[in-house]
Amino acid sequence: ESVIVAIDGPSGTGKSSTSKAVAAKLGLSYLDTGAQYRAITWWMLTNGVDTDDPAAVASAAGKPVIVSGTDPNHPTITVDGLDAAGPIRTQEVTSQVSAVSAVPEVRTLITGLQRSIAAAAAGGIVVEGRDIGTTVLPDADLKIFLTASPEARAARRSGEVKGSDVAATREALIKRDAADSSRKTSPLAKAGDAVEVDTTELTLQQVIECVVTLVEE
Ligand code: C5P
Repeated sequence: ESVIVAIDGPSGTGKSSTSKAVAAKLGLSYLDTGAQYRAITWWMLTNGVDTDDPAAVASAAGKPVIVSGTDPNHPTITVDGLDAAGPIRTQEVTSQVSAVSAVPEVRTLITGLQRSIAAAAAGGIVVEGRDIGTTVLPDADLKIFLTASPEARAARRSGEVKGSDVAATREALIKRDAADSSRKTSPLAKAGDAVEVDTTELTLQQVIECVVTLVEE
Protein backbone atom coordinates (compact mmCIF):
# COMPACT_ATOMS: atom_id res chain seq x y z
CA GLU A 1 0.00 0.00 0.00
CA SER A 2 1.34 3.39 -1.03
CA VAL A 3 0.85 6.43 1.18
CA ILE A 4 1.13 10.04 0.04
CA VAL A 5 1.97 12.67 2.67
CA ALA A 6 1.84 16.40 1.87
CA ILE A 7 3.75 18.74 4.19
CA ASP A 8 3.25 22.47 3.61
CA GLY A 9 4.08 25.65 5.48
CA PRO A 10 6.28 28.75 5.38
CA SER A 11 10.09 28.62 5.61
CA GLY A 12 11.83 27.97 8.90
CA THR A 13 9.10 25.75 10.31
CA GLY A 14 11.28 22.63 10.04
CA LYS A 15 9.54 21.33 6.91
CA SER A 16 12.61 19.86 5.21
CA SER A 17 14.17 18.26 8.30
CA THR A 18 10.81 16.82 9.33
CA SER A 19 9.87 15.56 5.86
CA LYS A 20 13.23 13.86 5.27
CA ALA A 21 13.23 12.17 8.69
CA VAL A 22 9.62 10.97 8.40
CA ALA A 23 10.26 9.55 4.92
CA ALA A 24 13.46 7.80 6.08
CA LYS A 25 11.72 6.35 9.15
CA LEU A 26 8.77 5.01 7.19
CA GLY A 27 10.72 3.84 4.12
CA LEU A 28 9.03 6.38 1.83
CA SER A 29 10.43 8.47 -1.01
CA TYR A 30 10.94 12.21 -0.47
CA LEU A 31 10.49 15.26 -2.68
CA ASP A 32 11.61 18.83 -1.87
CA THR A 33 9.50 20.99 -4.21
CA GLY A 34 11.16 24.21 -3.02
CA ALA A 35 14.44 22.83 -4.41
CA GLN A 36 12.77 22.53 -7.84
CA TYR A 37 11.64 26.18 -7.81
CA ARG A 38 15.11 27.16 -6.64
CA ALA A 39 16.66 25.08 -9.45
CA ILE A 40 14.64 26.76 -12.19
CA THR A 41 15.49 30.16 -10.61
CA TRP A 42 19.20 29.30 -10.61
CA TRP A 43 18.99 28.31 -14.29
CA MET A 44 17.26 31.63 -15.15
CA LEU A 45 19.94 33.63 -13.29
CA THR A 46 22.85 31.78 -14.91
CA ASN A 47 21.31 31.99 -18.39
CA GLY A 48 20.71 35.73 -18.43
CA VAL A 49 16.93 35.66 -17.99
CA ASP A 50 15.58 38.74 -16.16
CA THR A 51 13.79 37.10 -13.22
CA ASP A 52 11.76 40.27 -12.61
CA ASP A 53 10.23 39.99 -16.10
CA PRO A 54 7.38 37.44 -15.95
CA ALA A 55 7.10 37.23 -19.76
CA ALA A 56 10.81 36.40 -20.10
CA VAL A 57 10.56 33.81 -17.30
CA ALA A 58 7.45 32.28 -18.88
CA SER A 59 9.04 31.84 -22.30
CA ALA A 60 12.21 30.26 -20.86
CA ALA A 61 10.41 28.04 -18.32
CA GLY A 62 10.45 24.89 -20.46
CA LYS A 63 14.16 24.99 -21.26
CA PRO A 64 15.96 23.61 -18.19
CA VAL A 65 15.77 19.88 -17.45
CA ILE A 66 15.30 19.44 -13.70
CA VAL A 67 15.79 16.01 -12.13
CA SER A 68 15.10 15.32 -8.44
CA GLY A 69 16.45 12.26 -6.59
CA THR A 70 13.90 10.97 -4.07
CA ASP A 71 16.02 9.10 -1.51
CA PRO A 72 15.40 10.90 1.83
CA ASN A 73 18.87 9.89 3.03
CA HIS A 74 20.53 11.36 -0.05
CA PRO A 75 18.34 13.97 -1.78
CA THR A 76 19.79 15.25 -5.05
CA ILE A 77 18.83 17.81 -7.69
CA THR A 78 20.36 18.42 -11.10
CA VAL A 79 19.70 21.00 -13.81
CA ASP A 80 20.73 19.98 -17.33
CA GLY A 81 22.81 17.27 -15.67
CA LEU A 82 24.69 19.69 -13.38
CA ASP A 83 24.61 19.22 -9.60
CA ALA A 84 22.49 22.15 -8.30
CA ALA A 85 22.34 21.27 -4.59
CA GLY A 86 24.85 23.95 -3.57
CA PRO A 87 24.05 26.80 -5.97
CA ILE A 88 20.29 26.75 -5.24
CA ARG A 89 20.95 27.81 -1.62
CA THR A 90 22.65 31.15 -2.39
CA GLN A 91 21.15 34.47 -1.23
CA GLU A 92 20.71 35.51 -4.85
CA VAL A 93 18.51 32.49 -5.64
CA THR A 94 16.62 32.87 -2.35
CA SER A 95 15.82 36.51 -3.09
CA GLN A 96 14.52 35.78 -6.64
CA VAL A 97 12.70 32.45 -6.17
CA SER A 98 9.35 33.97 -5.14
CA ALA A 99 9.20 36.07 -8.32
CA VAL A 100 10.04 33.10 -10.55
CA SER A 101 7.65 30.72 -8.80
CA ALA A 102 4.77 33.21 -9.12
CA VAL A 103 4.82 32.82 -12.93
CA PRO A 104 1.92 30.50 -13.92
CA GLU A 105 3.89 28.76 -16.74
CA VAL A 106 6.60 27.85 -14.20
CA ARG A 107 4.03 26.43 -11.78
CA THR A 108 2.28 24.39 -14.49
CA LEU A 109 5.56 22.77 -15.53
CA ILE A 110 6.89 22.10 -12.03
CA THR A 111 3.51 20.87 -10.79
CA GLY A 112 3.40 18.35 -13.65
CA LEU A 113 6.88 17.17 -12.74
CA GLN A 114 5.86 16.78 -9.07
CA ARG A 115 2.75 14.76 -9.93
CA SER A 116 4.69 12.36 -12.15
CA ILE A 117 7.35 11.85 -9.44
CA ALA A 118 4.63 11.14 -6.84
CA ALA A 119 2.85 8.73 -9.19
CA ALA A 120 6.11 6.85 -9.85
CA ALA A 121 6.96 6.44 -6.14
CA ALA A 122 5.60 2.93 -5.75
CA GLY A 123 6.12 2.65 -1.99
CA GLY A 124 4.70 6.10 -1.20
CA ILE A 125 6.22 9.55 -0.78
CA VAL A 126 6.50 12.58 1.47
CA VAL A 127 6.21 15.78 -0.60
CA GLU A 128 7.05 19.12 1.03
CA GLY A 129 6.21 22.58 -0.26
CA ARG A 130 3.69 25.44 -0.16
CA ASP A 131 0.77 24.20 -2.29
CA ILE A 132 1.05 20.41 -2.15
CA GLY A 133 -2.13 19.75 -0.14
CA THR A 134 -4.16 22.41 -1.94
CA THR A 135 -3.06 22.06 -5.57
CA VAL A 136 -0.39 19.50 -6.43
CA LEU A 137 -1.75 16.44 -4.58
CA PRO A 138 -5.24 17.34 -3.30
CA ASP A 139 -5.97 13.60 -2.78
CA ALA A 140 -2.97 13.05 -0.45
CA ASP A 141 -3.64 10.54 2.34
CA LEU A 142 -2.36 12.93 4.99
CA LYS A 143 -1.84 16.71 4.85
CA ILE A 144 0.24 18.54 7.43
CA PHE A 145 0.58 22.31 7.72
CA LEU A 146 3.57 23.37 9.82
CA THR A 147 3.69 26.81 11.46
CA ALA A 148 6.00 28.59 13.94
CA SER A 149 6.37 32.13 15.27
CA PRO A 150 8.39 34.52 13.05
CA GLU A 151 11.03 34.69 15.82
CA ALA A 152 11.45 30.91 15.95
CA ARG A 153 11.60 30.66 12.17
CA ALA A 154 14.21 33.41 11.83
CA ALA A 155 16.33 31.90 14.61
CA ARG A 156 16.29 28.48 12.93
CA ARG A 157 17.13 29.90 9.50
CA SER A 158 19.99 32.08 10.69
CA GLY A 159 21.36 29.06 12.52
CA GLU A 160 21.58 27.33 9.12
CA VAL A 161 23.11 30.19 7.14
CA LYS A 162 26.67 31.10 8.11
CA GLY A 163 27.31 34.69 9.12
CA SER A 164 23.69 35.83 8.86
CA ASP A 165 22.05 37.94 11.55
CA VAL A 166 18.63 37.10 12.96
CA ALA A 167 17.01 40.50 12.29
CA ALA A 168 17.95 40.52 8.59
CA THR A 169 16.91 36.87 8.21
CA ARG A 170 13.56 37.67 9.85
CA GLU A 171 12.90 40.55 7.42
CA ALA A 172 13.81 38.40 4.38
CA LEU A 173 11.62 35.51 5.59
CA ILE A 174 8.60 37.75 6.20
CA LYS A 175 9.01 39.31 2.76
CA ARG A 176 9.24 35.91 1.02
CA ASP A 177 6.23 34.50 2.92
CA ALA A 178 4.18 37.58 2.03
CA ALA A 179 5.07 37.16 -1.66
CA ASP A 180 4.38 33.40 -1.57
CA SER A 181 1.03 33.92 0.21
CA SER A 182 -0.24 36.71 -2.03
CA ARG A 183 0.55 35.38 -5.52
CA LYS A 184 -2.48 34.59 -7.70
CA THR A 185 -1.55 31.03 -8.73
CA SER A 186 -1.53 28.39 -5.96
CA PRO A 187 -0.26 30.54 -3.07
CA LEU A 188 1.15 29.22 0.20
CA ALA A 189 -2.00 28.00 1.93
CA LYS A 190 -3.33 25.45 4.41
CA ALA A 191 -5.70 22.90 2.86
CA GLY A 192 -9.10 22.66 4.55
CA ASP A 193 -8.38 19.05 5.56
CA ALA A 194 -4.77 19.61 6.70
CA VAL A 195 -3.63 19.02 10.29
CA GLU A 196 -1.91 22.17 11.60
CA VAL A 197 1.13 21.63 13.81
CA ASP A 198 2.63 24.68 15.56
CA THR A 199 6.32 23.82 16.01
CA THR A 200 7.33 26.95 17.99
CA GLU A 201 7.70 25.13 21.31
CA LEU A 202 8.56 21.69 19.90
CA THR A 203 11.92 20.05 19.23
CA LEU A 204 12.56 18.55 15.81
CA GLN A 205 12.27 15.05 17.35
CA GLN A 206 8.83 15.91 18.74
CA VAL A 207 7.59 17.19 15.38
CA ILE A 208 8.88 14.03 13.64
CA GLU A 209 7.15 11.80 16.23
CA CYS A 210 3.93 13.74 15.84
CA VAL A 211 3.89 13.35 12.03
CA VAL A 212 4.90 9.67 12.14
CA THR A 213 2.03 9.01 14.55
CA LEU A 214 -0.42 10.79 12.24
CA VAL A 215 0.78 8.72 9.24
CA GLU A 216 0.41 5.48 11.18
CA GLU A 217 -3.09 6.28 12.49
O1 C5P B 1 11.08 25.55 0.68
P1 C5P B 1 12.01 26.60 0.13
O2 C5P B 1 12.20 27.74 1.08
O3 C5P B 1 13.28 26.04 -0.39
O4 C5P B 1 11.21 27.18 -1.13
C1 C5P B 1 11.75 28.19 -1.92
C2 C5P B 1 10.65 28.97 -2.62
O5 C5P B 1 10.05 28.16 -3.64
C3 C5P B 1 9.48 29.45 -1.77
O6 C5P B 1 9.77 30.66 -1.11
C4 C5P B 1 8.40 29.65 -2.84
O7 C5P B 1 8.56 30.87 -3.51
C5 C5P B 1 8.69 28.52 -3.82
N1 C5P B 1 7.85 27.34 -3.63
C6 C5P B 1 6.59 27.36 -4.19
N2 C5P B 1 5.80 26.25 -4.11
C7 C5P B 1 6.22 25.14 -3.48
C8 C5P B 1 7.50 25.11 -2.89
C9 C5P B 1 8.29 26.25 -2.96
O8 C5P B 1 6.19 28.36 -4.77
N3 C5P B 1 5.44 24.06 -3.45
